[in-house]
Amino acid sequence: MLSRYAATPLTSQLNEVGAWGNPVLSSTLGGYGYRLIAPARSLERYEFLPLEPQPGEVVVEVVGCGVCHTDVGFAFDGVPTRAPLPLTLGHEISGRVTAAGARAGQWEGCNVIVPAVIPCGDCSPCRAGQPTICRQQFMPGNDGDGGFATHVRVPARGLCPVPEKLPPGISLPLLSVVADAVTTPFEAIRRSGLGADDVAVFVGVGGVGGFGVQIAAALGASVLAIDVDPARLDLAAQHGASLALDASSASDKELKSAVRSFVKQSGRKGIGLKIFETSGTPAGQTIAFGLLDYGGYLAVVGFTPKKVEIRFSNLMAFDATARGNWGCPPEQYPAALALVLEGKVVLEPFVERHSLDEAPAVLEAVARHEIKSRVILVPDHEGSQ
Ligand SMILES: [Zn+2]
Ligand SMILES: [Zn+2]
Repeated sequence: MLSRYAATPLTSQLNEVGAWGNPVLSSTLGGYGYRLIAPARSLERYEFLPLEPQPGEVVVEVVGCGVCHTDVGFAFDGVPTRAPLPLTLGHEISGRVTAAGARAGQWEGCNVIVPAVIPCGDCSPCRAGQPTICRQQFMPGNDGDGGFATHVRVPARGLCPVPEKLPPGISLPLLSVVADAVTTPFEAIRRSGLGADDVAVFVGVGGVGGFGVQIAAALGASVLAIDVDPARLDLAAQHGASLALDASSASDKELKSAVRSFVKQSGRKGIGLKIFETSGTPAGQTIAFGLLDYGGYLAVVGFTPKKVEIRFSNLMAFDATARGNWGCPPEQYPAALALVLEGKVVLEPFVERHSLDEAPAVLEAVARHEIKSRVILVPDHEGSQ
């Protein structure tokens, strides 16, 4: 790998760039990544020159990038990326800042988590405190090249600093999943107003829901997990869920009555069930909507481009609320990270690591539901220098 990389024509291009007097701000010799060339095609490896941060931007040496179902949506389900292809996917990034543009110098050398959605900070929604709907937002791997690469260039605004010294068992690559899989349910839970008086139901306890269960439990809520995978249900039961229900062997009606008796037995006095749809599947969405009751709250966290058939009027009949959230405002990241660093949300049992070079195969395996854990792609920086 190392010799193959060093032997590419990139090196000679690099020298030429240097000879032309262009500033080379990164200390590294460029890098490589895996980009989507066209929908439904395998990701393609490509190499790039050192990235040069513009004012207000940084270059992050990626140490970990989580693989999200949104990446699968872009690659295989016909969901268009906002920037044209070819595009490097990946929006769940942790790493170290190796170069910083003007006004971003304070980040140089810092360990960071890159928010999945980086708002502009200046438009009407941003000023009104709704930065996740900012139309000038930058999402790595959607609005520009993302983290399935050795390096990525992103706005410095909103970066979440990570302490140099981490608690035992927590590493910077592991923290990549905070960028989306932890913070997105964190924000959904925050918006729901969930507290210790409430019962929270998570429909789908994979990469995202498994973290949601733990966040809800950390807030003192009584938590119920629903999934179709026994291994996931076991994990949820070990990490915060008081009851785990297998939806593959129960009718919707049976699920509903099991949830009702759980609420009764929980003794929680909170008004209305807080339901979190974290499966991103039509079946999960149908179950989640069907659980709505008087004063209920449904958070739509998972994504699927597919449609579902629901009785929409239930919202009216139950005086219920359904709400989505596109990521999480950057200012909430430190609080979400703190839950992880304090050990209230554990990541390790829910993830598996693969080499960045496995990106094409991994994305296909995730699309085929062959990998159930959250995958973290880890670049081999020995091979990129
Ligand atoms: Zn995502
Ligand atoms: Zn904005």
